[in-house]
Amino acid sequence: MNIDLLDDNPYLLLTPGPLSTSKRVKVAMLKDWCTWDSEYNDLVQNIRRRLVSLATRRTEDYSSVLMQGSGSFSVESVIGSAIGPGGKLLVMTNGAYGQRIAQMAAVLGIDTLVLDSGEVSLPNLAKLEETLKADSAITHVAMVHCETTTGMLNPIQEAGAIVKAYNKTFIVDAMSSFGGVPLDMAELGIDYLISSANKCIQGVPGFGFVIARIDQLQSCKGQARSLSLDLYDQWNHMEQNGGKWRFTSPTHTVRAFYEALLELEEEGGVAARHTRYLTNQQTLVKGMRAIGYETLLSDGMQSPIITSFYYPDDPSFTFETFYKQLKEQGFVIYPGKISNADTFRIGNIGEIAEADMKRLIAAVGRVERSVKSHT
Ligand SMILES: *Cc1c(COP(=O)(O)O)cnc(C)c1O
Repeated sequence: MNIDLLDDNPYLLLTPGPLSTSKRVKVAMLKDWCTWDSEYNDLVQNIRRRLVSLATRRTEDYSSVLMQGSGSFSVESVIGSAIGPGGKLLVMTNGAYGQRIAQMAAVLGIDTLVLDSGEVSLPNLAKLEETLKADSAITHVAMVHCETTTGMLNPIQEAGAIVKAYNKTFIVDAMSSFGGVPLDMAELGIDYLISSANKCIQGVPGFGFVIARIDQLQSCKGQARSLSLDLYDQWNHMEQNGGKWRFTSPTHTVRAFYEALLELEEEGGVAARHTRYLTNQQTLVKGMRAIGYETLLSDGMQSPIITSFYYPDDPSFTFETFYKQLKEQGFVIYPGKISNADTFRIGNIGEIAEADMKRLIAAVGRVERSVKSHT
């Protein structure tokens, strides 16, 4: 056996996600589980109940479904199942993940309208209202909560109020925010919320999940445009069979996720986790600004999840070198993802504390000095 496997990670992942998980979450995967076993299926039911409780106080109206694959598979299962044959989808986009929803709808042949506000502006809510007023064929509105492309936190509360005033179904991709930003689906008028195991709940990759109004899930019956990504069938199978998945489930990932949910509860729930992420994010930005880095977004638009920074005003800077130098010092960061500015991103979520952010700032400072001493 390779003993290195039991050593701690050589670096922290500041990349949501996968992100850095606790040892407890990783150790939970050292056991094999049978997908037919009631002990395992009870665990799945327990997870499903916990997810609903994290999403709303009005638990009786909502249910949850776990779905194999990365987060996008769960988004696609909602888009492909929730919108009926005569339905029309309006997608609010300001980044790659909003655009991915529009792309899924296009592939699935769903009548779709896209309202794009560029990558560094908030969604245009006046335009949303105008569009819903003008086009009564629209049945569903989808938007991303934290647009991980930039780190922007979109105004789902204001958007939800408009969507509900026009009596439309509201779909929110809360992939990178759920569990790290407090919200209540019932209060926000969210009908479908999608997230995945490897983001703010701090599990490992392998499945996503959908929390939805029960009446909405029931209305998906027979509408799916895919067999594997049939949201209704997956939900109904779990409901009817005590937590059994339709096809092979990622058992180790599920077991680790359960442990991650217990950790979230022990940390003090979503509010406490939100506070930790906020502290991480603010420590990061304060330290980076002191060195001379500038953020892509103004503080008012910024989420506590991930932050985009402009490249420094230094012609010798390359992301590849910067990345490599930080990795050598124990930190892995993300490249930028927007089209018209040179940026990189640093995530604040995962098993990361304020002290890690301070160590990161010190490491960036050392990289800076070594660059300057060579020029
Ligand atoms: C991570 C993420 C997804 C899903 O990405 P996968 O690579 O499929 O897991 C979707 N939307 C947002 C906003 C995300 O951050």
